[in-house]
Amino acid sequence: EVRVRFAPSPTGPLHIGGVRTALYNYLFAKKTGGKFLLRIEDTDQNRFVPGAEEYIKDSLEWLGIAPDESPWNPGSVAPYRQSERKADYMQYALDLVEKGHAYYAFDTAEELEAMRERLTAARVVTPQYNSITRTQMKNSLTLSEEEVKERLASGEPYVIRVKIPRKEEVRMNDLIRGWVMVHSSTLDDKVLMKSDGMPTYHLANIVDDHLMDITHVIRGEEWLPSAPLHVLLYKFFGWEDTMPEFAHLPLLLKPDGNGKLSKRDGDKLGFPVFPLNWENKESGETAAGFREQGYLPEALLNFLAFLGWNPGDEREIFSKEELIEAFSIERIGKAGTKFDIAKAKWYNEQYIRTKSNQELASQVIADAANDGMELSQEKAEAIVALTKERVTFASEMWSENKFLLIAPTSFDEQVASKKWNEDAVKVLEHYAGSIEAHSGDFDGATAKSLLENSAAAVEVKLGKVMQAVRLAVTGAGAGPDLMEIFAILGAKEVATRIKFAIE
Ligand code: GLU
Repeated sequence: EVRVRFAPSPTGPLHIGGVRTALYNYLFAKKTGGKFLLRIEDTDQNRFVPGAEEYIKDSLEWLGIAPDESPWNPGSVAPYRQSERKADYMQYALDLVEKGHAYYAFDTAEELEAMRERLTAARVVTPQYNSITRTQMKNSLTLSEEEVKERLASGEPYVIRVKIPRKEEVRMNDLIRGWVMVHSSTLDDKVLMKSDGMPTYHLANIVDDHLMDITHVIRGEEWLPSAPLHVLLYKFFGWEDTMPEFAHLPLLLKPDGNGKLSKRDGDKLGFPVFPLNWENKESGETAAGFREQGYLPEALLNFLAFLGWNPGDEREIFSKEELIEAFSIERIGKAGTKFDIAKAKWYNEQYIRTKSNQELASQVIADAANDGMELSQEKAEAIVALTKERVTFASEMWSENKFLLIAPTSFDEQVASKKWNEDAVKVLEHYAGSIEAHSGDFDGATAKSLLENSAAAVEVKLGKVMQAVRLAVTGAGAGPDLMEIFAILGAKEVATRIKFAIE
């Protein structure tokens, strides 16, 4: 059975790139009939941020990609927070020490710094604690067994480092990148257990993926450099047979393709890079989210699915079920993908159009109520019918079209200077009178024929004054179908507005 995991560290709001990673894991699990797990990687207590875990939960639920197993919905491999699993990690580190694949190191911060300075002075580009330099440091490979025992017994602080072999080719087959080969001489002896007794990411991540029976590791490309170490750790533990397959997802790039889309880009670029609004209660730091900006979850999901994957044909609109059906790791690309916010907006427009007028009317009613105006379902639906093909966000159905119910008090100056003239006033005067004299239905067609009659009666070409008519009633020079607006407003209101405008 396929078992995949999303393993965020709760150090702040979940970045949109993380959401895409979660989505691909979800789609792969559902496609293969497997399980999607969520593991909270919170071993670094210094970086704990209140609310971050709830944020992850809320984000995934909002998008409809909640995990099958998680801290809130544990399965048989619980617990799902690394902070609750910490008692176990030491024994695994010690197991590696025993097997000769890891060792104790007692170097102080000053000694490590001195080593770096020595190497830098010798023009070593990346000073590392590795198979060569460790021979000059204070660790259980250089100290006598006696001395190591003494140091441990006396409670001296230590870390446990992995012992990277000096000359070995580490190979791994990435499902997206193909064979990746790294020479072990380029790797360093990473710390596995820190001096505070907590594991590092590398150790905890490997141990947990093993204990949680993970079959595929699908994660961002930034973890590719760590993968050779992870492969070595599986080998050192003797878990090669059950080692998961790896798939490293392409980077999300800034809209101009210039570098990775970062957490701080949101403010600079003027669009959110997080799914939901965020507020850190302690620091007061806030960030804007797609949800609050008016993106529909199904639109964002569809957009994210296409950031790195494609179905191999021209189709672009996919429901969640259709994505599950079409998804495959083979169709994920290697190249970084530009984060094109215009495309996200396009998706939102498409999804708004698929909603029924009845459903969208509730949003219009709520937005109008916020402006202190009570709208009937019927009127709200009429507004939806008129506007839903024209908006990017559902809130615009009301915000951009308030004039339907609120009479304009000012008129677009630019349009007025070009289009407002005596002819327009003549037509409008006549039109207001004929509307008031009219009895019976005032639908779009009636509004139109009365207007045509008025133009004919005062001998003005209607086309020449049409924009002025719109300006008089709505205050703006452009907008949805004017006669439909008149029908929604009703005869009396249209006449009142015209008279106000020509006064
Ligand atoms: N905790 C890591 C992160 O924050 C997980 C990386 C992985 O999936 O292995 O992204």
